[in-house]
Amino acid sequence: MIRCKPGVKIQIYSPAIHIMLHELMMLDHNFTRLRLPKSLWITSIWRPARTKPSRHPTHEAIDIRSWNFSSRAAKRRFRQVYEEVLNNNPTVSLLYGRPGPNPAFRVLFEPTVWDFRGRVIKMEHFHAQVKKGVTLDT
Ligand SMILES: [Zn+2]
Repeated sequence: MIRCKPGVKIQIYSPAIHIMLHELMMLDHNFTRLRLPKSLWITSIWRPARTKPSRHPTHEAIDIRSWNFSSRAAKRRFRQVYEEVLNNNPTVSLLYGRPGPNPAFRVLFEPTVWDFRGRVIKMEHFHAQVKKGVTLDT
């Protein structure tokens, strides 16, 4: 089941966000062998621009909780398969004018970040985004 952390915002429902949510839904429903957690939590979609460049302010990225995955292998496999299905998405193939895989999306595993006092600043998560230098808006 796909769940949304309270407060997650979608400001513009862009083609990129549509494709990322669609493929996440398809994985959740069809890939039992991926051993996904019972709940796939979306933790961030849109957020305002800060100093660090990010694809969240431009409606081109989503974050998914990773700490509830069963193992490092399950996280690794999900990252890889999710990126693969995104880049094989039929809409992406239409935009590129050729069958997939096309280099349109990137999925990264972002490890937990602590401050100098040992407090968690950001929990580990998957970050899916439109690849650098690529625009999916038509
Ligand atoms: Zn992110």
